[in-house]
Amino acid sequence: MFDLFKNHRRAELRKQGLAESERAIVSRHVPELARLDAAERGELEGLVRVFLAEKSFEGCGGLELTEEIQVTIAAEACLLLLHRDNDMYPGVDVILVYPAAYWVESKTHDGAVVIEGPEARLGESWARGLVVLAWDHVSSRLMRAGGHNVVLHEFAHQLDGENGSMDGTPPLTTGARYSSWGRVLGQEFTELSERLHAGKPNDIDAYGATNPAEFFAVVTEMFFERAAAMKARHPELYAELAAFYHQDPAARETG
Ligand SMILES: [Zn+2]
Repeated sequence: MFDLFKNHRRAELRKQGLAESERAIVSRHVPELARLDAAERGELEGLVRVFLAEKSFEGCGGLELTEEIQVTIAAEACLLLLHRDNDMYPGVDVILVYPAAYWVESKTHDGAVVIEGPEARLGESWARGLVVLAWDHVSSRLMRAGGHNVVLHEFAHQLDGENGSMDGTPPLTTGARYSSWGRVLGQEFTELSERLHAGKPNDIDAYGATNPAEFFAVVTEMFFERAAAMKARHPELYAELAAFYHQDPAARETG
């Protein structure tokens, strides 16, 4: 019964577009959306309405939440849901937004030594209910120019976790899809790790070699922000992501 109400409410929200002030924010902060066609933009606007109605935002570290912050984050997060059968990030209830990269206590193991100390974070995805973002990095044109997008990164982790574990494999539709995903992403992950160890240059961000979950989040950023380059240099990886996201952002970049 709850699903019926939820689906009805979502269908109503999805019919509503964005207000002019919200459209202006999106065109300023989310350049990817300018490349969508009219039907896709309409679909995306409906998703953003649902996102804004269902998720709550909290400003942290003195940050005052604005429409600009909420609409920008919602629009980027919803870009990952376009054309996909989705349940609007069921694992996310709250998005915490800090003004800038924030410091957390962390423990790292370096051989036998445990190094404890503060570590700068740009964003985090928690398995239960929470995404944490630093607004200066969300809105940074410099990050974007470097092919980074912290919102896409953190929400890719959420998609990854929808089957119960953030392990680099989000829910896929068929057994065949799982085997090609495992083969292609596994090979690319291994190649990235090997190139790093050998001191060779690589075009996939080194952070992706941390583990398969980070690899999926990093290549999601690259898929949307450097699509044509990824398609040219990593065609199989691009094809896996294109099948998962039901999008071909390289065609948008060149078209
Ligand atoms: Zn990550």
